[in-house]
Amino acid sequence: MRRVSENVYAEIYFWGCNPGFVVTGEGVVMIDTPQQPIDAVRWRERLQEYGPIRYLINTEPHVDHILGNAYFPGVEVVGQVGLQARYEQAVPELTSAERLEIIKQADPDSVWLFNHPDYPPNPPTHTFTDELTLQLGRHTIQCLHLPGHTAPQTGVYLPQEGVLFTGDNIFHRVKTFIQEADPWQWLATLTRIGEIDAAVIVPGHGEPCDRAYLAEQAEIIEAWIGAVEDFVRRGLSEEEALKQPAPTADPYPIGQRLFPRVATVDSWNVGNLYRRIVARSA
Ligand SMILES: [Zn+2]
Repeated sequence: MRRVSENVYAEIYFWGCNPGFVVTGEGVVMIDTPQQPIDAVRWRERLQEYGPIRYLINTEPHVDHILGNAYFPGVEVVGQVGLQARYEQAVPELTSAERLEIIKQADPDSVWLFNHPDYPPNPPTHTFTDELTLQLGRHTIQCLHLPGHTAPQTGVYLPQEGVLFTGDNIFHRVKTFIQEADPWQWLATLTRIGEIDAAVIVPGHGEPCDRAYLAEQAEIIEAWIGAVEDFVRRGLSEEEALKQPAPTADPYPIGQRLFPRVATVDSWNVGNLYRRIVARSA
């Protein structure tokens, strides 16, 4: 666990996203959850040493950010209003026999906790549209709708700490997932993130960084758009585009134990961008 400012901590070596938390005078506020059940229950015990857990803010609807919600029963979950439907849609997959098989293979210590009756799904119930401010003790916690990597994407800004959690709007020196993003909206959001006065950025994946990395993140997304625009310009169908060698738009390796899935992520990125570029030029 890494201390990134006086009262903010993040873990960057779990399997899944980077969860974090801020310790306030009135308890702990979490940002995202460990994906693996055994990591989530250990994380809960660790956080409780700092005070009662008051809120859990989800930055996005992908499994690696929300699967762990279940292991924080009774903790109110905060999310952008679009996250509610996405969480509901995800529950069948989060609790599926297929996911149990993955956990059996890859993380046997978590099997006994999967679908445990004490840990039912814990959906977002405290929602906002553009912005929500929580005040706990002397800490202001700003939840900001920053659409990009996903439509309900949320950033969490802690002005007294100079820390911004961006979720997967930033993949710091690990492979960028563009499986459902509106890439042009994402680029506009990166500009907006650059205007937030944060000394430390905790990305969704990769080591903490600062605003100097924003330009590079934008270049990677622009390179992906350019590569897939080229497929469209050459008149390739989506199926043909998917058969091309994967674009070399991103110089970074895939992070956090996902290395068997590089080709899958490349095909997700190409398919999503292909459909969006064609729709935009229609
Ligand atoms: Zn994501």
